[in-house]
Amino acid sequence: MSQTYTFPLAPPTCNTHNKPCTRQRVNPNNAKGNAGRPYYICRLCDADNRGQFGPGFVTSDDAIGVYEGNPKCKCDALSRLGKAGCDTTIAGQWFVKCAAGVCGYWAPVRFGRG
Ligand SMILES: [Zn+2]
Ligand SMILES: [Zn+2]
Repeated sequence: MSQTYTFPLAPPTCNTHNKPCTRQRVNPNNAKGNAGRPYYICRLCDADNRGQFGPGFVTSDDAIGVYEGNPKCKCDALSRLGKAGCDTTIAGQWFVKCAAGVCGYWAPVRFGRG
């Protein structure tokens, strides 16, 4: 039974802390084209500076990057295509991840024959 996420999401729960995540919006001065996008962070992960996609970052709360044809995550839902920001350990890497940030699915994406 496949699943479809609709946005805005119900607040996800942090897999590490088992606590509800906090909804925020990207700073309007964001230079990466993400200004104003809603997203969820775990404040506890943020405080620990944890998170593969930036401190505490769990998921964006919109459908940007969730395309028909993306691989399915462990929730059996369409994954989200994204590009890692410069504040992460995988800066510039394209990837697909769980669109709702709940199952931990993540896979790198390579375009063309690179
Ligand atoms: Zn956490
Ligand atoms: Zn998932």
